[in-house]
Amino acid sequence: MAEQPIAIAIHGGAGTIERDQLGTEREQAIRTALESAVNAGHAILEEGGSSLDAVAAAVRILEDAPEFNAGRGSVLTNQGRVEMDASIMSGKNLDAGAVASVRGIRNPIEAARLVMTDSPHVMLIGEGAETFARNRQLQFEDDEWFKTDFRRDQLEEIKSSDQAATQLSEDWYSTVGAVAVDRDGNLAAATSTGGMANKRWGRVGDSPIIGAGTYANNRTCAVSATGHGEFFIRHVVAYDICARMAYTGKPLVETADEVVNEVLKDAGGNGGVIAIDQHGRITMPFNTAGMYRAAIHGDGQLEVAIYADEKGHSPEP
Ligand code: ASP
Repeated sequence: MAEQPIAIAIHGGAGTIERDQLGTEREQAIRTALESAVNAGHAILEEGGSSLDAVAAAVRILEDAPEFNAGRGSVLTNQGRVEMDASIMSGKNLDAGAVASVRGIRNPIEAARLVMTDSPHVMLIGEGAETFARNRQLQFEDDEWFKTDFRRDQLEEIKSSDQAATQLSEDWYSTVGAVAVDRDGNLAAATSTGGMANKRWGRVGDSPIIGAGTYANNRTCAVSATGHGEFFIRHVVAYDICARMAYTGKPLVETADEVVNEVLKDAGGNGGVIAIDQHGRITMPFNTAGMYRAAIHGDGQLEVAIYADEKGHSPEP
């Protein structure tokens, strides 16, 4: 019998990512961070580790990388604060954990994982979630530690532009996420974000919502999303991809493309997903100009890409 393949895909957000906007230095930093995160996750899978460990490790690295909108480098709220969301799910038994609107937790993905493993709940929010994380000895940092000059400038720019009218910055999403399959054929998905720049009123997007921004079920696939969260919540995007596969028997690539490039696009929802099935097939569709993404496929091939015109690697199943 052929060996169960291992594979992992990660994203660092989708949006209006244009070559001339990004700049060579930032682009290189992003590619390097993506590569080290996907390598770290893959190393865990290679050693026989679980897909849950792999996705958590990859997301943790992206949270620590200041280039992405998660952990350090998160976007700022209308009040100039950092409020983060994260979730994780196991495709083996549908265990899931999430935190929303948390402050100070260095790696929100670890808090989400502890909600899954150390509490009877699926989602904890705000101060309660922070107390839970503190009691579990998670690392905390001052608010200022999370804030980069890039995000400070971004908030100022949004506030002084027309976008202020919409109250949310829609042209730039850089939430992070990971999906993986391990040697036992177990799927897992994880997502972490600072949400949308200039958000107010305790706004929470799709990232910590199981079914919207994150979903995993061994019977179908594991999905992590990025984009305009309100649309992903309304269309229950991550779950919809899994459910369509189960109901129609259609393959992953076609199903994910249908949801991202038809359902979501028709509704006016910008963004993309990364998804993987038990055979290690990976798809990373998006309906924006670009999506930061990387994968190590079942045949061991590394793929790192940003723009839509960078052709993906898809090994024969
Ligand atoms: N989906 C996230 C949210 O709406 C934003 C992103 O993907 O960057 O909160």
